[in-house]
Amino acid sequence: KYSKELIEQALHYCSSEYDCLQNKNRYSREMNEWTTKINEFIKLSTETYKSCEKSNCSCHKAVIDQDLLPFKEGIVKEQFDNAKLKGTKYQIIEGKVYRQKECHFPFRCSGVEHYLIALAPKLPNMELVINTRDWPQINHAWGHKKAPVFSFSKTKDYYDIMYPAWSFWEGGPAISLYPTGIGRWDQHRLSISTAADKWPWEKKEPRAFFRGSRTSEERDALILLSRSRPDLVDAQYTKNQAWKSDADTLYVPPAAEVSFEEHCKYKYLFNYRGVAASFRFKHLFLCKSLVFHVGDDWLEFFYPSLKPWVHYVPISPKANQDEIIEYIEYFKENDFLAKEIADRGFQHIWDNLTVKDVKCYWRKLLKRYAKLIKYEVKKDVDLIAL
Ligand code: UDP
Repeated sequence: KYSKELIEQALHYCSSEYDCLQNKNRYSREMNEWTTKINEFIKLSTETYKSCEKSNCSCHKAVIDQDLLPFKEGIVKEQFDNAKLKGTKYQIIEGKVYRQKECHFPFRCSGVEHYLIALAPKLPNMELVINTRDWPQINHAWGHKKAPVFSFSKTKDYYDIMYPAWSFWEGGPAISLYPTGIGRWDQHRLSISTAADKWPWEKKEPRAFFRGSRTSEERDALILLSRSRPDLVDAQYTKNQAWKSDADTLYVPPAAEVSFEEHCKYKYLFNYRGVAASFRFKHLFLCKSLVFHVGDDWLEFFYPSLKPWVHYVPISPKANQDEIIEYIEYFKENDFLAKEIADRGFQHIWDNLTVKDVKCYWRKLLKRYAKLIKYEVKKDVDLIAL
């Protein structure tokens, strides 16, 4: 029914098509063709989408399969010793968790340990290396040797094994609104979805919204667009710890920070990568607003379960200001489609990224990982009991 080319484009953002958009009149034939294509992407993606089973974190199972595939022959001691240099060593022995004394980011370790301690009594003995830095460690494209390092985010170029970020519990970025750091996903689920009820679709402002710091230049196009088209976009840079002068907020003073709940006032919410994936993404869906997700390289474990055009609008990181305008205008003109995607995005995260799902993912991941360890795990007396 659909051409192979169209299917491929729909599964990705149509970045190569963007060139043809430049300098095109909104009512030109090319513009009509573009609109038709977006219509088709949405139709095709929603028609072929099969929602996953809402039990046992099964929506995310394929990610475990894929991340552990490079280790299918088993993990030998030498590989583990190489991994040790890249993160914090943990052991689970007879149902108890042990960790090397020093942990570079104590709140991040603590956010991870919240799950490990809860699950340990029913887990087999194992040892693992958890990287709590922002970026992944073992890049096959750079020739790094295969080693099992657990990281919260990565691209396809890494062997790192993704785990649910510490910030599901605690240790996320500390901003003025969340001075102890973003965390407690269980509480955010409730407070943001309550805010969404206060801002039903018809009441939301039909403008795109973004607040955050300049952790990646990919965000610049939207920030600049907001300055020339405030009627369409409100996107401003805030300060982060690295902020030194207005140059770091693209030559205007930093904006005040805005809570996740306040994001619900807007119909279109933008997500961007930061240093790695941004913790922002999952929260945006809870507003029942339409999420525009820019770029698809940086992942967290639950990203692959979300599908472009079904749950969010995929945007190329190369999209210029004119192209961003076209997308916003398209969804302003096709309001019912925007609402449908927004509702599906909300429902997917609400149903499949529960606290139970996060715990379930950790459990399955660790059980599968433990089976791959080929050597006998001996209790390391240098570790501390948690
Ligand atoms: N954040 C927020 N309100 C703001 C600015 C940031 O809630 O006004 C949140 C944002 O959603 C993200 C975290 O703070 O989860 C850090 O955002 P930033 O843009 O600084 O960095 P990122 O982690 O996205 O690269």
